[in-house]
Amino acid sequence: MNSGSATILVADDSMVVRAVLRRQLEADGHTVVEAVDGAEALRACREVRPDVVLLDVEMPVLDGHATLERLKADPELRDIPVVFLTGRVDTADVVTGLRLGAHDYLRKPFESNELMARVSAALRTKWLQDELRSRNAELDRVSRIDMLTGLYNRRHLDEHLRRAIAAARRHDREVGVVLADIDHFKLINDHHGHLAGDAVLREVATRLQGTVRTEDALGRWGGEEFIAVLSDTSPEGIAVIAERMRQVIAASPFTLDDGSQIPVTVSIGHTSGSGDAEILVHRADDALYAAKGAGRNRVEAYAAA
Ligand code: GH3
Ligand code: MG
Ligand code: MG
Ligand code: MG
Repeated sequence: MNSGSATILVADDSMVVRAVLRRQLEADGHTVVEAVDGAEALRACREVRPDVVLLDVEMPVLDGHATLERLKADPELRDIPVVFLTGRVDTADVVTGLRLGAHDYLRKPFESNELMARVSAALRTKWLQDELRSRNAELDRVSRIDMLTGLYNRRHLDEHLRRAIAAARRHDREVGVVLADIDHFKLINDHHGHLAGDAVLREVATRLQGTVRTEDALGRWGGEEFIAVLSDTSPEGIAVIAERMRQVIAASPFTLDDGSQIPVTVSIGHTSGSGDAEILVHRADDALYAAKGAGRNRVEAYAAA
């Protein structure tokens, strides 16, 4: 039975045991890395990231149980399944190993069939875990993206803003928040339909994407509102980017699916600071409100009352 080729770490102070395991595992198509004690096994785990560890219990320097404890304490290594090799007849050893988080155990002297079966089972566990991890990462990514525009959504931006503020505080800097809201967007929906409205939102997103730097985060804050979180930017720099955002939308009309061309504009409010995230957004919103009141298609900075 071959469950695919894997990298297997064999940690045992006995050269004979290592040689036997190597021969059998290599015959099954696996790559074998050897360690002669627990300390070396930990080093090898960090370096080669094996798919499975076969770990002897009685070893010099650091025994199998102590090694297992350290593997389990390391977030980077704790998911590597460990099958420990025990020469003892009593079950205390086995119980201790399993309690410490070993995946399985193998009693010496072992039979080739049993070795292969246990290694295969450990590998299946490892691959299932890896797959689960990558699916979770994908789910996490998707949960931060706005489906309509492909930009970050509010959930991600909110987190990003809080992180950016914390970093700014450490470096005695400020974070810029720019809020852009499409002018009279309701009229676009009313005159051209909701689908045309969606297409306009996508085009606004595409145009805005070119206006911020890679270290900044741009996203859809809600309905027809967009937000840019700018790290390490002076108030003048923020004003420049906000004006660029306004211009890139107003510069040329949007072409709808039916071929008609419509002018689209945004009003923008911005502010900067290193205090509370909600207050920062609130201030940008106040400035946005002022831009609307002053006639739309405008940029306003927050001015303390
Ligand atoms: P103002 O210039 O004051 O911002 O006016 P407005 O019409 O843009 O603002 P209002 O808040 O009155 O309307 C926003 C509209 O945006 C109403 C809502 O139906 C529409 N909207 C929100 N989300 C979406 C969406 O995902 N797709 C479409 N097509 N429309 C949306
Ligand atoms: Mg030993
Ligand atoms: Mg709005
Ligand atoms: Mg609007």
